Amino acid sequence: MKGAKIKIEGIVQGVGFRPFVYRLASGLGLKGWVLNSTRGVIIEVEGESHNLEVFIRRLKDKSPPMARVEKMLVEDCAPEGYQEFIIKRSSEDEEKFLLVSPDISTCNECREELFHPDNFRFAYPFINCTNCGPRFTIIKDVPYDRPHTTMATFKMCPICQAEYEDPGNRRFHAQPNACSGCGPQLQLRQDGSLCQVTNPLDRTVELLKNGKIVAIKGLGGYHLACDGEDNQVVIRLRSRKIREDKPFAVMCYDLSSVDRYCYLNQGEKELLESPERPILLMRKKTDCPIASAVAPNNRYLGIMLPCTPLHYLLLRQFGHALVMTSGNQSDEPIAYEDEDALRRLSSIADYFLTHNRRIMRRCDDSVARVFAGRSIIIRRSRGYAPRPIRLPGAVNEILACGGELKNTFCLTKNNYAFLSHYIGDLINLESLASFEEGIQHFQKLFNIHPKIVAYDLHPDYLSTKYASQLLATNHGLSSVGIQHHHAHIVSCMAENGLRERVIGVAFDGTGYGSDGTIWGGEFLIADYADFKRVGHLQPLPLPGADAAIREPWRMAVSYLYSVYGDNFTDLDLDFNRRLNKRKWPILKQAMDKKVNSSLTSSIGRLFDAVASLLGIRDTINYEGQPAIELEQIAEDRIDKWYPYKIIEEEPFLIDPRGMIEAIVEDLKHGTSRSVIAGRFQRTVAEFTINMCRKIRTTHGLNKVVLSGGVFQNIFLLRILWEKLRQEGLEVFIHHQVPTNDGGISLGQAVIANERVKKCA
Ligand code: ZN
Ligand code: ZN
Ligand code: FE
Repeated sequence: MKGAKIKIEGIVQGVGFRPFVYRLASGLGLKGWVLNSTRGVIIEVEGESHNLEVFIRRLKDKSPPMARVEKMLVEDCAPEGYQEFIIKRSSEDEEKFLLVSPDISTCNECREELFHPDNFRFAYPFINCTNCGPRFTIIKDVPYDRPHTTMATFKMCPICQAEYEDPGNRRFHAQPNACSGCGPQLQLRQDGSLCQVTNPLDRTVELLKNGKIVAIKGLGGYHLACDGEDNQVVIRLRSRKIREDKPFAVMCYDLSSVDRYCYLNQGEKELLESPERPILLMRKKTDCPIASAVAPNNRYLGIMLPCTPLHYLLLRQFGHALVMTSGNQSDEPIAYEDEDALRRLSSIADYFLTHNRRIMRRCDDSVARVFAGRSIIIRRSRGYAPRPIRLPGAVNEILACGGELKNTFCLTKNNYAFLSHYIGDLINLESLASFEEGIQHFQKLFNIHPKIVAYDLHPDYLSTKYASQLLATNHGLSSVGIQHHHAHIVSCMAENGLRERVIGVAFDGTGYGSDGTIWGGEFLIADYADFKRVGHLQPLPLPGADAAIREPWRMAVSYLYSVYGDNFTDLDLDFNRRLNKRKWPILKQAMDKKVNSSLTSSIGRLFDAVASLLGIRDTINYEGQPAIELEQIAEDRIDKWYPYKIIEEEPFLIDPRGMIEAIVEDLKHGTSRSVIAGRFQRTVAEFTINMCRKIRTTHGLNKVVLSGGVFQNIFLLRILWEKLRQEGLEVFIHHQVPTNDGGISLGQAVIANERVKKCA
């Protein structure tokens, strides 16, 4: 006989960990107890020493699919003489620091029951168990217990209750446990009134087959669904949603149906089927039968597999891909509350397939890509949030407010950074409200009371304004303003566990620089506490400020003017024929007199200029569109690049004017746009490599960290990834956290922590 005390930390709550421990211990004839504490799972166990060893080994190896055992401490102890193995109830008084689980897609066992005609939950769209089902989106408070979820209003029937109480059952303490007799029910609505149908789901499938648009309530909000192979209905959806050409995602039943549309590698298969179920961007097949209006001008298609039983039922009956795009108009946040959805989506959806389980938190679908065999997250939300990022060291309790576009906030405690779900662009009251509510909710869930607030230096960001409001009303708070690109680099460092100084390459569209100009093509020497700007793209005027971001032709003018002066209008270019000859003198005056045209070193704006020169895009319909379209049309096999100069004194300046001239020559000679787009991006890669080489020589650093929205561009990222490594540099990119502004809150928190430590 031997005894052991075991402490386990990680994601062990709401993922079926205690029942797993119970079954494991009982199966081996061990006695003792398991308890869910705020510090993790605590086990006291005793029995025959060989069985005890097996128990400890399997705790790690055989844990439930969504559990993450991060730390396991085993101590020997004297046997107490327990008579049985029990699950002790957790106490509510303990500190509420718990690792709340993200939502988990339907597990294999539940799926089998769902489609098995003999099962009493056959075709029940809300089937779940301790290994799967809604979590984050239904949690109101901790501990994670049914009364603290939006399932509290449903009283379990005797069968469900018995399962819930039976430690041997796979639904033991499955908080959202339900069946058709006692749980949530579907409803079909049209024009605000209930449709009298016996089976709302069958009817929905019929409607979709007849070319209707249906708003469907999912895990974290409403989707707008329609037939993914019917171009007419997709075009109708676009015009009603007022979304010109930003790609829609589609949902497929399984991998074999994905295979009809896209090329699939092993990494992509695994990520598609992972419990997180992100939308995955994959290369379209040439004969892909998806409607062309789903992702116009795009070689990639965003696909996800079903994440709930409702979606499994829908897709299986429907047969092929359904468009599943966010339930909103234009750039509003997605609708997740029923009343709001019925109101806001009534001009878009013909019908509503809804249900009476409330969604507590709006949570968008996540978006990912596979690069070099590993996943990279572009939008980290449903399925991932609020799982914390583990930090290289312990940190203070900090609130980091994030940026403006693709906002996320971040709260830190102990070794963890709780990066929020995707809040969206903080440009309207509704997203600001969800930002503020989200912060309150996270503080409550994770029992975090920040004394430090970190924010972006940009004075006009709503997140920055929120931080100053907090400071004005809470006197105990201290604040740290953080440069945008420093935050990008440290975000990537933190998720990669890097602490030492690195070469940071931060490429994006817009970030407020320490000198008040707009940065975005930055080479930094950075650590957690500080940075030095050692190089950047030669700044040029951004004529018309925000208007220049919406209208890339303005940046093309800025570049042409910098190369050819006034004479550029004489060049024999399509661009000049499209140029509004009345607007040009106004722009020239603005640039000459520096009115409403601050300087920018942004790489994003360089992409804009080239996209417009090539006639790909003079005005945009969504953020980042010119860069995305340049990536899409670029010829893959490019061995030539354009001339450029690097001005040889720190800070090193990249002068791309030679490249602009060469592009103009290529255009005059009728070189194809694909080739020019390829050569252009190859040139960006070349000057980046060249700069890294110089900085390595002058600063003796060998680690390169790439961050910023521009690195969502796989064409560019692939060249850099390969060539920088060939140069003998160690390259780090984002995997768990978005490389776009969705990742900066993490960097802000880590920097703020370091700064405060230094002051103390
Ligand atoms: Zn399940
Ligand atoms: Zn029931
Ligand atoms: Fe940025």
